[in-house]
Parts: sequence; structure tokens; C-alpha cells
Amino acid sequence: MSKSRNSSRLAKQIRRRTALTQSTASRLAKQVRVRLPQPIADASEPRQRRLEAHMAHVLASRFQDRQLNGALLGAQDAQTAPGHLGLTVEPTMADEVLRELLPRLDDSYGGLRGVPGLRVRPVDGGIVLQDSSGSARVFAETSDGRAWRLPTAEEGETPLWTRPLGDLSSEEHEEAEGWAGAWPTVPDAAVRDLMLSRVLRRPGLVNRASAPHGFANCYTHHSGDLVVEWCCGDTVEAYCAALLAHGFVDGLPPSETIELTSAHSARLGGHTVIVRRHSACQYDSGPSAQKITDSIEKGYSS
Ligand SMILES: [Zn+2]
Repeated sequence: MSKSRNSSRLAKQIRRRTALTQSTASRLAKQVRVRLPQPIADASEPRQRRLEAHMAHVLASRFQDRQLNGALLGAQDAQTAPGHLGLTVEPTMADEVLRELLPRLDDSYGGLRGVPGLRVRPVDGGIVLQDSSGSARVFAETSDGRAWRLPTAEEGETPLWTRPLGDLSSEEHEEAEGWAGAWPTVPDAAVRDLMLSRVLRRPGLVNRASAPHGFANCYTHHSGDLVVEWCCGDTVEAYCAALLAHGFVDGLPPSETIELTSAHSARLGGHTVIVRRHSACQYDSGPSAQKITDSIEKGYSS
């Protein structure tokens, strides 16, 4: 199919699924620069979406702007099916990805860190990160095939990941219930879970923000959102257009799908996923991007 027919078909699709005007939908459709070959499946079970969303949230909160090789949440690739998520993790970041995900009590933080109820077991070729419900899990491997190193507790930490499946500490129970909807900061936990699970399932699109420099910034304000912030490469419209072309907001009420809040920012899934692009490169003056990459790399090797 010709490029212009593709673009007009996509514009119609964007118009139908969102509350954007026809002219905005057409403008966005023309900016899609990536077409992934396979459709990206959603996780079919709510528990699976919840686990993946909580993982994405923890990774965004903890890694912020410390990625290598453009792996925004530590992930370089994903294999998706309705009942399965396999992640290919950046090898230098892998041990810290695992460490940040696994739950423990941290005295210096004053509470629980990681994903409550998450347990890990080595399997052939990688690890399985398993939710204590037993029904939700994520398989992870490193992109260079190197073995995972299971973390040990640091000073001031009480590991909870060593408890058997299903044996949650009271802190894990409380955190899991808060995440599932008890906290008032999240108006719709099911939508938050769907959107953040979709983030984790789309490293090929999400990492476009970190491609130009090898790192970008991600963070969260509270348990209901995830922010991606970058400078060079895709404009906000081009970035959002690629997500819209790959099912990122499918199934949401049109008014909740996307809001282009300015030339440099947008919100997707209500207030769940916030994307921001600086109007100028952050590394034109001051330390160069390469210098920052070197210091990020040093942080992982120390
Ligand atoms: Zn830049």
C-alpha cells in the first residue's frame, strides 16, 4: 500500500479512536516513522496487567535518567502474547533491574521498595518474575545471554523476595491493596494498569525517546502516572503518533485517549502517561551526552 494511503487510513483510525480533530489526526498520521511488524498484544488478565504496570512504575521511578543503550526501563525488546510477556533486558542494567523490582524493606527509605509479592526463580535462559498470586509472571533474559545475579540484601534492608510464593508480609499486602485501588490518587486503577502495561510491552516505541542520546528521563509523580522526558529525536507529535499507530490507546473512551497539552507535551490515557520534550538539546552546553553516558556506565560497574 502506498505511503499516502497508509497515512490516510491511519488518520481515519486515529480520528475514530480519539477526540482529536480530523486535521490533527491527519497531521499525526503523517509523522509516524516506525512500523513494527507484529501487532502488540495486550495482557489478557487484569492480574498480569497489574504486575506489568507495577514493574514499569518501579523501573521508571528508580532508573529516571540512568539508562544505557537507550533502554528506558531497562528493556530493549519485548515478546508479547495475551498470556505472556518476555522482556529482553539491557545486560549492564540487568542486575539492577532485578534488584529494584524485588520487594524489600529499606530502613533508609522507611518502607517497602520494589513490587509487592514479586518472587524470582531462575529458568533456562533467564529468570521468571512471578506474582504471588501465581497466575501473573514475566520472563526476562539479557540481550547478550549473560546470567542473572540474584541480589543480596544490603545494609538496612530486609529482603521479602526470599519468602515463598503467596507468603506476603503485611507491608506487601498493604502496598498491593493500595496499588490495586485503595489509594485515592488513582481515579481508575484498571486504566492505569492497562496503560503502564502497554508501556512495558512497547520498548521498540517507548525507547524512541532515549535513542538519540542513549538515555532520556523517566519518573513518576505518584502511583498513577509515568512521565517520559527527552530532548532530541522525535517531536511529541511524532512520538505519540507512533504509539497511536500501535494500539496504545485502543479501547479507552475517546476523551481519555490523548490530549496534546502544548507543542512540547501530551497526556495519554487520561493523566497516566505524560510525555514531554525539551525545546532544545540539553547537552549542547555543559557536560556532553557522551560524558553523561560514561558516568552512567561507571555507576553500574561500581
Ligand atoms: Zn538532545
